Amino acid sequence: MTGKKRSLKAYRSRRNFMHTSEPKGRAKKKPSKRPIFVIQKHKSRSLHYDFRIEIDGVLVSWAVPKGPSINTRIKRLAVQTEDHPKEYARFEGIIPEGEYGAGTVLVWDIGTYKNIKKKNDKIVPIKQCLKNGQIEIFLRGKKLCGGYALIKIGAKDQWLLIKMRDEYADARRNPVSSEPKSVLTGRSLAHIKQDAKKKVTRKKIKK
Ligand code: MN
Repeated sequence: MTGKKRSLKAYRSRRNFMHTSEPKGRAKKKPSKRPIFVIQKHKSRSLHYDFRIEIDGVLVSWAVPKGPSINTRIKRLAVQTEDHPKEYARFEGIIPEGEYGAGTVLVWDIGTYKNIKKKNDKIVPIKQCLKNGQIEIFLRGKKLCGGYALIKIGAKDQWLLIKMRDEYADARRNPVSSEPKSVLTGRSLAHIKQDAKKKVTRKKIKK
């Protein structure tokens, strides 16, 4: 998944857009001036956090089982998954049973990021960082802020997500547990699930 051209083929082939309300999306070529990041809390077979950063118009993605930490001494496993469309960043709701990733999705944090990876005092292009398996980005989100490193470890799609040392690091706080709700709607996972069920019921009554 570190080839030259980013593609949504894998993303689309796993989903039936007749059944799921996830966006089909389109791959945009123009790089953004202010690329975005999003962290989606996703309760499927198991609870995890999908960490996504915009590269080349798509969201390059990792599943982080324990979610991000702001303690610099904690390394979190991050498994790279398929690229998602940029439109996915604001997706919150349920993925129906039987579909890929079936469960509930909540936008846990969203914002912009800046590539801060340097070599010989020069910024290394983010695509190159991805290829090298060494990403360093500065996040400006609602819950998370500051530098984070994503480091590829060995074979397969395994990476580590680590908070870098800066003024935003804090070993005493754990936003994953203290700030569990959506930054878009203030809802919990249970609340989102409940709302989605109501919608379905309403639809049925209309018929
Ligand atoms: Mn997921």
